[in-house]
Amino acid sequence: KQDVFADYREITETAEISVKMHGGRAKCLQRLIRLGLPVPKTLALSFPTVHAIAEGHLADTERMMAAFGEVPLVSVRPSSEDPDWGGPGAILNIGMNDARHAFLAETIGERAANALYLRFIQAYAIHVARLDPDMFEAEDLTDAAALRRALSDYEDETDETFPQDPARQLSEVLRSMARAWEGTTARLLRQARGAPADAGLGLVVQEMALGLGQPESGSGVIQFVDGKTGEKLIKGRYLSQSQSRDALAGQKEAIFLTRDPRGPSLEELCPEQFAALLEYGARCRTRLREEMQIEFTIDSGALSIIDAVRIPRNSRAEVRIAVDLAKDGIISREEALMRVEPRSLSELLHRQVDPDAPRDTLVEGIAASPGAARGVVVFSSAAAQARAAQGEACVLVRRETTPDDIRGMHAASAVLTERGGVTSHAAVIARGLGVPCIVGASGMTLSRKANQFTCPDGRIVREGDMVTVDGSSGAVLAGETPLVEAGLDDAFQTLLGWADEVRDIKVRANADTPADARTAERFKADGIGLCRTEHMFFEGDRLTVMREMIFADHTQDRQAALDQLLPMQRADFIALFEIMQGRPVCIRLFDPPLHEFLPNDREGLRELAEALDLPLSDVNRRVEALSEFNPMLGMRGVRLGVTIPEIYEMQARAIFEATIEASRKGDPVVPEIMIPLVSAKREVELVKTRIDAVAAAVRTETGVDFTYRLGVMVETPRAALRAGDIAAHCSFLSFGTNDLTQMTYGLSRDDAGRFMSQYVQQEVFPEDPFHILDAEGVGELLTIGSERGRAANPQVTLSICGEHGGNPESIAFCRTAGFHYVSCSPFRVPVARLSAAQYAL
Ligand code: PEP
Ligand code: MG
Repeated sequence: KQDVFADYREITETAEISVKMHGGRAKCLQRLIRLGLPVPKTLALSFPTVHAIAEGHLADTERMMAAFGEVPLVSVRPSSEDPDWGGPGAILNIGMNDARHAFLAETIGERAANALYLRFIQAYAIHVARLDPDMFEAEDLTDAAALRRALSDYEDETDETFPQDPARQLSEVLRSMARAWEGTTARLLRQARGAPADAGLGLVVQEMALGLGQPESGSGVIQFVDGKTGEKLIKGRYLSQSQSRDALAGQKEAIFLTRDPRGPSLEELCPEQFAALLEYGARCRTRLREEMQIEFTIDSGALSIIDAVRIPRNSRAEVRIAVDLAKDGIISREEALMRVEPRSLSELLHRQVDPDAPRDTLVEGIAASPGAARGVVVFSSAAAQARAAQGEACVLVRRETTPDDIRGMHAASAVLTERGGVTSHAAVIARGLGVPCIVGASGMTLSRKANQFTCPDGRIVREGDMVTVDGSSGAVLAGETPLVEAGLDDAFQTLLGWADEVRDIKVRANADTPADARTAERFKADGIGLCRTEHMFFEGDRLTVMREMIFADHTQDRQAALDQLLPMQRADFIALFEIMQGRPVCIRLFDPPLHEFLPNDREGLRELAEALDLPLSDVNRRVEALSEFNPMLGMRGVRLGVTIPEIYEMQARAIFEATIEASRKGDPVVPEIMIPLVSAKREVELVKTRIDAVAAAVRTETGVDFTYRLGVMVETPRAALRAGDIAAHCSFLSFGTNDLTQMTYGLSRDDAGRFMSQYVQQEVFPEDPFHILDAEGVGELLTIGSERGRAANPQVTLSICGEHGGNPESIAFCRTAGFHYVSCSPFRVPVARLSAAQYAL
């Protein structure tokens, strides 16, 4: 026989079988064999062999069949490198033909023989001959008439009799599975799950344990922890007279594994086999160092282990399983830390819709990624990025998402699609990002042209409307539904506690409000690395006072307005210090251009004139005078501090008075004060002199001593280049990589969203540099800045506080550059803690 491939091998304890050559299933079966589990005889075909089969080469199936003895029945299952990459479905009972049917009818009974043959004919017709699955009606598989019908239907459809030669059957099955793997749909699907373009498929050919025939025969699946929570618990089902995973397929007759008041159990039916399963489970756990789901068959009382897979699990279960394995001494703590993907933790941190809140459901779909989020509806990724750039939460609504939408999905707080299932692009990506997501909301009618969707009850949701996405239940709710914070269980806390013991870089949080600080505290941040104080001025009646301050003509008027703001700021800072209980709090002085506090429409201007008791023309003139061509590069940050010093003086006083107050009640506070947008050392000198003077005044007035640390935010390229001069005048440098990226690229952070996806698509940038730190360019400024800063002032504390701070990539960079801490949004603190630990290991 020409063109025969002989490259298959029997899986034995010593055979050379590897995940990279034969796939995960083949390797796992070898491990089970080494553990002494009763695995039926199995052959493994390597990736190149399967590829060659797909190309049209023939495998020596006659010899393969002969390896199983005289008249064997076999199954073929896929074995890819990573089980998540999928693969063609298993095909069982290969070898069934008229003769074998007659023989089995004698030995195990006619009905069982009918079922075996009929199952095979159906599988072969659908997967190999590619006939319409609908041609087989749901019928009694053990019925002789049904079997005859299937054989004649097959003949009618294909104009040939059902193949009787087992070697040919196997040959055809192998070829159809090999080809299915190389098909476009399968390739796209696995690539969406992270498989490389050239991922290979192995196949395993295994002797059948029938599961049909003499009592007790049947099959089932057992696992020892819950894939949702990771908690220890025996789960699974067993079904008499069944094969493979039938017991899980929803048959009512499937029974429990353990004794259960609700019905019969395998434990009672087959106590010995059940006990053996428990023992095998324990052996797998300790020796494979993993929680496995075991597929088993009982054949006339004999137990076989067909397969075992790592239990499919969500992030919560992943954490608990790793922690429990480490606690039981099966893996080390270090390994437990390495097993959990840091970004997956964010799935655990997400808020949920308050269960007690009233729900006004607009439309329902498939709950594809957990957590809840609120935001305004947008219908394109560009719109999502534009909203996010403005700091506005949005929900991205698409018919379905494509890889082009990734950046939009990053920018969105939640994703909703009309089409798709739990493995659709939107669902897979959203879970990866930890973004709540609902897919397949087919009840809605999406109109891209009109930028709106219509709900089943006729309500219309337009771009800009607020909705709440409950990714845990799959419901889209109208308006801003109340949310509750995530519950963080003990396994999560334990794992992160271990992470804290090994990591060598601190993780602080960016927190502007007491609510943020409480979140930071809950996630055990090492302090606050950036408190953007201006956010405090937008609240309630503070805005009016702020505007009075901006409009003040004379120093006294300005001072009067600032005197009103002082106690409010002081209260803010006391709250932050108290929540952080002695951990460092870094407060950034006022940063944005003043015009951001002014109205920009006619109505607003009129109201402002009224509130300030000024003629509208005066207000208009002042607002115009404050408007800038390029506000982000204009009168903001330290430039305000130098030209209108009273603002920073008020803030410094509020910080010092809060320091005294908070230290009186709790741990002593050493506040950190940070100056934004510095580009020259003289700016630092001027501000420092004034803040020192305020400190001296407060000390004298109160008779209480305190210390503080003054630092500079390095967010202009010049500050990075001149970090040596600057570091000589301060105790810390914190790199603000948002502005630094903006200024290094000369690329507006508020406008980049409009074309970023095209830029990434055309490979101008490998990634959005506002999302992933540009290690080459911006990174070089970080390196230069930190080196020069440290050379001038070896004691200087170095950190990063831009949005990049929580990314694992940035953490790696900052560790290497010798930074002391990263600061990121509170919800990313756990991710950063774990990823810092992984880098330290
Ligand atoms: C920065 O520029 O990186 C920063 C942290 O400050 P902001 O985002 O407030 O400009
Ligand atoms: Mg900045």
